[in-house]
Amino acid sequence: MPDLLSLSGLRTQFVTDRGRVKAVDGLDLTVHEGETVGLVGESGSGKSVTALSAMGLVDDPGEVVDGQVRFHDPDLARRLAEEHPKQADEFVDRSESVVDLARAPEAAMRSVRGGEMSMIFQDPMTSLNPALTVGEQVAESLRLHQYGGRKPDTWWNAVQETLPSLRGGGISEEVLDATAEILAEVGIPEPEARLDDYPHEFSGGMRQRVLIAIALACRPQLLVADEPTTALDVTIQAQILDLINDLQDEFGMSVLFITHDLGVVAETCDRVAVMYAGEIVEEGPVEEIFHNPSHPYTYTLLESIPSEDKDRLTPIEGNVPNLIDNPPGCNFAPRCPWTQPECTEGEIPYLQHGPDDVDHRSKCVLEAFDTSTYGDDAAGVSAESEVFTGDPLVSVDGLQKHFSQADDLLDRWLADGPQAVQAVDGVDFDLYEGETLGLVGESGCGKSTTGRALLRLVEPTDGTVLYAGDDLATLDAEGLRERRKDVQMIFQDPLSSLDPRMTVAQTIMEPLKVHDLPEQEAGDDRSARQARQERVDELIEAVGLDLDQRDRYPHELSGGQRQRVGIARALAVDPDFIVADEPVSALDVSVQAQILNLLEDLQEEFDLTYLFIAHDLSVVRHISDRVAVMYLGKIAEVAETDELFADPKHPYTQALLSSIPEPDPLADTDDRIILEGDVPSPIDPPSGCRFRTRCPAVIPPDDLDVDQAVYREIMDYRERVENEAISVAAIEDSTADVADSRAAADGGRASASDPVEADAVREPTVADLRQRLFDGPLPPAVDDVINESLRLVVEEEWERAADLLRERFESVCERDSPELGAVHHPAACHLYPKS
Ligand code: SF4
Ligand code: SF4
Repeated sequence: MPDLLSLSGLRTQFVTDRGRVKAVDGLDLTVHEGETVGLVGESGSGKSVTALSAMGLVDDPGEVVDGQVRFHDPDLARRLAEEHPKQADEFVDRSESVVDLARAPEAAMRSVRGGEMSMIFQDPMTSLNPALTVGEQVAESLRLHQYGGRKPDTWWNAVQETLPSLRGGGISEEVLDATAEILAEVGIPEPEARLDDYPHEFSGGMRQRVLIAIALACRPQLLVADEPTTALDVTIQAQILDLINDLQDEFGMSVLFITHDLGVVAETCDRVAVMYAGEIVEEGPVEEIFHNPSHPYTYTLLESIPSEDKDRLTPIEGNVPNLIDNPPGCNFAPRCPWTQPECTEGEIPYLQHGPDDVDHRSKCVLEAFDTSTYGDDAAGVSAESEVFTGDPLVSVDGLQKHFSQADDLLDRWLADGPQAVQAVDGVDFDLYEGETLGLVGESGCGKSTTGRALLRLVEPTDGTVLYAGDDLATLDAEGLRERRKDVQMIFQDPLSSLDPRMTVAQTIMEPLKVHDLPEQEAGDDRSARQARQERVDELIEAVGLDLDQRDRYPHELSGGQRQRVGIARALAVDPDFIVADEPVSALDVSVQAQILNLLEDLQEEFDLTYLFIAHDLSVVRHISDRVAVMYLGKIAEVAETDELFADPKHPYTQALLSSIPEPDPLADTDDRIILEGDVPSPIDPPSGCRFRTRCPAVIPPDDLDVDQAVYREIMDYRERVENEAISVAAIEDSTADVADSRAAADGGRASASDPVEADAVREPTVADLRQRLFDGPLPPAVDDVINESLRLVVEEEWERAADLLRERFESVCERDSPELGAVHHPAACHLYPKS
């Protein structure tokens, strides 16, 4: 494949008070036409700065200090040479039809960005303009790149652009149609009806689709995707990855895919470049990198990912270097288990690995390294799951937490119940002494609120939480204070959960002071202060920190070290039960492995019971004895870990497990279940089974013999009728265009006011709606009801249409709420018996 983008010798540096940060330090990378290259590395490795450097988007205090960014495109070279005749010699190589983007003037770069190259970012909310409608933002991109470019800067155009409505904003019908078309291409349902919506009216996944639509509006040759799915849940991530793959096939563009997630890389990329400390340390075809990792960093990184067959993780010891004064030689040397004397002297060469005809290079002095004993000395507890029985330590029954949306007390009293956010809505589970129960689910499913309500960090609305016989939910302040010694919490973001003004020792000492601990035994002649300081030192060592870090502040510690402080603080009062809320999700995979091992060791040493809340299923699988899966405020399924992963019962669990990207490019993903749509609002959750709006196994009425795919289509259509979310006006517009052209063809004899002619207009609308809403023909038993409902929809008789559809197609899944049941492996789904 011919080259499209080649970076050579790229160096980008940031000027700071402490010196120059060499964020990208002599990087060579090529993206060929039509291929997807993954740029992978942990935080601070320089992958995003590489992309920004290629796009000419490095801001002060950063600058590209050396290197070339060559874009191979004869048309672009010709165009830029014509548009910038005076400077062209500096950045256009006419003989090779190549443009050096690192030397191109900003005016040229502006036309390349959003022209030949487009970029999508991690957080669509910050990339979209909240003050402009989605339609305006996509239309603007289209107008710039496909419909005659930017409008002149006149006062009238300025006024038009500030008009709130897209349709009043002077955008031509042609651009509007193209906008709706491109939104449909990226999977936005009913795009015509959503053109006037603002970004906040879209879900996270839909916003990312809008951003992709904007990026694609210019039909780029290269799409730079910087962590495009990191902020999304795993089921939505699967949708977006699928979409990017499909669009790439359709448009034949190249993709530079930046991510820290090795599973995402394995599934999406043709080639992979692994970055460490500003350099590419290994590069090759995706199968080679995953099955024959030839750089110690790549190998150890892959080893630190939790997987089915690893009982104990092997973390990479140490931390990423600071990139200011890199020592000579290999940047990975301080952490590398195979360091050689020559590793710290001079330049490290790239060596070729794998078969001769494969381009697989690794920046390491070793041809090979012995991995047979790697991880053997990672002593500690294995993470094999155990089965626990007896009396539970914690017993949660009917736990509810509804957040009122009302502003004040009076509003709250007068407020209708359904207006409350039903974050947790009747959760039951038991936890046994010494057990780890994993609580998983997508964001907004209520798992963190469950953890907080359990410890009364938020007041539960209803339910009981029995802890060793006491109901935590009803304890008075004094009783609760006493119990807080036994029940503690570890938080997700160690930086925001630690007081920046307190040192490590002060942070750990605080709960000891609050609870007047440690209790002094008879004969102990230490002062309380001395006893506390000794306890703090014990805890610092127990969580694997050095004693010389006791006087450091949070900002002087790495993410992993900060999380260790958070764990030491939780352990200070010698608890029996810890709620760990996403304790590793803010950490890189190599550090994550250190913390997971630490949590396992501490559990063994201090006999702890954990409720481990996480969205990462591979982490939960590794650490948990049992797993409870939550969806929209309720538990969908509970089972022992191995059983849940081997035989998930609930359709939601099946979809969730199947969405996890596997860090193996040869893994079979053909039978992956990609859920449609988003999680519904917890303010007004669906009746019956809360998963029914997305369930790929929803149960049809007994007397309806249709395929699941057809029934799903019908259910989706019903939902839209119930929500009046079908844009009849847009379809009428298009059929009116047809009628107009017919009228023009017959010399204007036909008229829409003529009843016969009105019927003629209505019928095509019904047919058109039918074609838009259903993929193919429907069985005769269904057909008549659907057609009748469509007629009612055209007449805007929404309620009658909804009633008609409900009467014929109502499912048990929407009538009755499924319960978990008292069986060995319960699933809250009507497909399974309850006893
Ligand atoms: S060059 Fe040396 S220190 Fe660096 S990865 Fe290779 S063996 Fe390890
Ligand atoms: S109860 Fe119905 S909708 Fe819910 S998970 Fe089971 S089959 Fe799906």
